[in-house]
Amino acid sequence: MKARKGKFFAKGIHVPDNKEWSKDVPIEVMETPDIVAISVQQHIGKPSIPVVNAGDEVYMGQLIAKEAGYIGANVYSSVSGTVMGVEKRKNINGTLSDYIVIQNDHHYRKVDLEPLADRESATIKARIREAGIVGMGGAGFPTEVKLSPRTPVDTLVINAAECEPYLTCDYRLMIERTEEVAAGIRLLAKALAVDKVMVGIEANKPQAIALFEKYDDMQVVVLKKAYPMGSEKHLIFSCTGRKVPVGKLPADAGCVVQNVATAFAVYEAVECNKPLYERVLTVSGKGCVHPKNLLVKFGTNFSALRENCGAKPEAAMFVSGGPMMGPAMASTDVYTTKTASGFLMLLPEEIDVSEPEPCINCGACADVCPMNLLPMQIDFYTQAGEYDLAAKFGGVANCISCGCCAYVCPAKRALTQSITLCKQKLSERR
Ligand code: SF4
Ligand code: SF4
Repeated sequence: MKARKGKFFAKGIHVPDNKEWSKDVPIEVMETPDIVAISVQQHIGKPSIPVVNAGDEVYMGQLIAKEAGYIGANVYSSVSGTVMGVEKRKNINGTLSDYIVIQNDHHYRKVDLEPLADRESATIKARIREAGIVGMGGAGFPTEVKLSPRTPVDTLVINAAECEPYLTCDYRLMIERTEEVAAGIRLLAKALAVDKVMVGIEANKPQAIALFEKYDDMQVVVLKKAYPMGSEKHLIFSCTGRKVPVGKLPADAGCVVQNVATAFAVYEAVECNKPLYERVLTVSGKGCVHPKNLLVKFGTNFSALRENCGAKPEAAMFVSGGPMMGPAMASTDVYTTKTASGFLMLLPEEIDVSEPEPCINCGACADVCPMNLLPMQIDFYTQAGEYDLAAKFGGVANCISCGCCAYVCPAKRALTQSITLCKQKLSERR
């Protein structure tokens, strides 16, 4: 079906995409270290409950932690070997979680899920839940829950924008595993019981656009290159022209959004009986000697990624995910998860370490905010410890943490940190 142009939202920013270093590098399977540490908290929701003990022999693809409740996700072993124990280890953001530590025997003896009897909606959804699939674009929301909206929907929107600079893992999946991604998209549509499928791809990915245009059952929408085009609300508007009301969910506009890596994981779970225990991620940045797109088993230490791709001595900052929303890492001695889409090694010229200065009330942050918020007010009241006022006058509840405001602030205010702190404080109070 011939691609059509998407609508464009007024705000947001234009950042250099820096995808040239990794976009033409084929996906490579990374060798997994001798020890993996697999987090029981790789999703939004309660931590999963370990079902293995120290000394147990496990297979690759064996359930090692069971979902705990409605918004939960199963966790599977990414290697075969011996469980060393369940230990507290650091997450990327510095907090602690339980990790199932496994000595990898490097034999990769695997166990599959049972083959499915049919491809009906309920069967596909149950398989997605069983396989532990969550939104792999970063949010980590259990996919099966998202496929069961409370209000009726008529459109599946596939987020193939990959608008975060540097990241190319979804793009490589789209051009190397096109049929499988398309099959995953059809399974998602079947699970949702919708006929209308839109695949939103930014204009800077012409090869992916050409490949998906050949399918008659999905409409490719060519999106203007802008950040944050991949935000659910903006993607829905660009693809369908529908607006998601403030404080509402995509389903309230008749849509569900899923990303490319999630569609690929759904294909593997349904058609190959493979639970989710590995993913493709991008390693890049000017501080990286060999930028790559790597297929990585969950629980792989980021230091092993650093060694595999090489870090230049001048690399001054390491980031998990993309540079706009991904957290800077205090240490690379942490482990990959279902939502880790990138690992960036950045040189001083790619980062801004200026000290923040007082706000000059220029309004630039509000001018670019794609959610029409007042970031300077959120910052002002948060710094004063007045979190309710930050919510009332700044609108922090509707913030999508895109980082556009901080990117343009001439005073180098740490706006995203203020916003994160404010959200945390309000959430703790709830
Ligand atoms: S206030 Fe939130 S939504 Fe608005 S630009 Fe800043 S981070 Fe993005
Ligand atoms: S962009 Fe920075 S300096 Fe300008 S109003 Fe916003 S916080 Fe203040």
